[in-house]
Amino acid sequence: MGLRNRWVIGNWKMNGSLAGNAALLGAVAAAPSGVGKLGVCVPFPFLGQAQSALAGGAAVWGGQDVSEHASGAYTGQVSAAMLVEFGASLVLVGHSERRQYNAETSDLVARKASAALNAGVTPVICVGETLAEREDGHAEAVVGQQLSACREVLLRAQGAAILAYEPVWAIGTGKTATPAEAQAMHAFIRATLRVLGAEADATSILYGGSVKAGNARELFSQADIDGGLIGGASLVAADFLAIAAAL
Ligand code: PEP
Repeated sequence: MGLRNRWVIGNWKMNGSLAGNAALLGAVAAAPSGVGKLGVCVPFPFLGQAQSALAGGAAVWGGQDVSEHASGAYTGQVSAAMLVEFGASLVLVGHSERRQYNAETSDLVARKASAALNAGVTPVICVGETLAEREDGHAEAVVGQQLSACREVLLRAQGAAILAYEPVWAIGTGKTATPAEAQAMHAFIRATLRVLGAEADATSILYGGSVKAGNARELFSQADIDGGLIGGASLVAADFLAIAAAL
């Protein structure tokens, strides 16, 4: 294994039920340990269930968002310390669905990542361009700006934060970036981390966007792709574990 951890992390989004999750979590708990790490980011109400099912095993769990605040009058928000109480070690920040539907700015995403780091939770910082931005030739500028906003937290993390490149046009659309397209952006992200002064070679950069068992191996074999953030396919145990086996 090189400098970087290799990861497959599931993002359940707003899916699941106590009854339905049991088999999926059971399968994740029983997954054979491989070359990489396995994680699931579940809706907040299922954190306790994930903790019960996965505690003591190799797989880790986390939330899909976190408040920038430590505590106080922020109705509906969940703090990083609360995630820690449920044994969470990961949290997604800046997923494109939150940037889009909750108008989250890159500065807010950076503050959320910082709050996670302060509590000892690994932020999985999601970046990525829309189709229009790519077609206009602005993909690197957009991703570069998203990364620059997180400069301080990336420096402080010293390689402990995870990045996820998720082209918005590939999320839940069945349209995957080609391995070459994804690798090119991952190399740009790593080069940008270097320019920002962050631990570029120690930071895991995951690809997300319609990763399936059938395309995972080729994506994960690219030099700067250290695993995947998996949406839809993380809800089907056999698919999720097959993707993990491709690490
Ligand atoms: C995601 O939601 O992070 C994601 C990558 O979704 P999907 O795998 O369904 O495209």
